[in-house]
Amino acid sequence: MLSELFYRAARASCAILLLAAAGSAAEVARGTLATPTEGEPLRLLTEAGTLSLDLDEGLEATMRDPQLRERTWEVRGRRAEDGQFLVERIFTVKDGVLHRVTYYCVICHITTHEPGLCMCCQGDTDLRELPGE
Ligand SMILES: [Zn+2]
Repeated sequence: MLSELFYRAARASCAILLLAAAGSAAEVARGTLATPTEGEPLRLLTEAGTLSLDLDEGLEATMRDPQLRERTWEVRGRRAEDGQFLVERIFTVKDGVLHRVTYYCVICHITTHEPGLCMCCQGDTDLRELPGE
């Protein structure tokens, strides 16, 4: 009987810890890009201020795509100790709706997630923004 009570108390505190961890895991920011400079980190202008973005190569190439220059972006990730925003996922926002950015080869029917030539036929790919997460 007593051990049952302890068990419940332990489970309850564990659930609280999990919630706290989930809450601190991902941050979301929305804004437009400051004019990109070659060799400099991309900067996102948000209502709360300017974020310096730390991105992997593919995400960075996508956000630098001139076709997407006028977009509003939603970035998700974590703030690093040095103040940079470590980006894990990116979306474009069109009419308030999140879109995934993809590139499609109409010849090979291959979808990729960064701009550039098709990995298969080396032809051009078309930008396609797909609604949803
Ligand atoms: Zn192709």
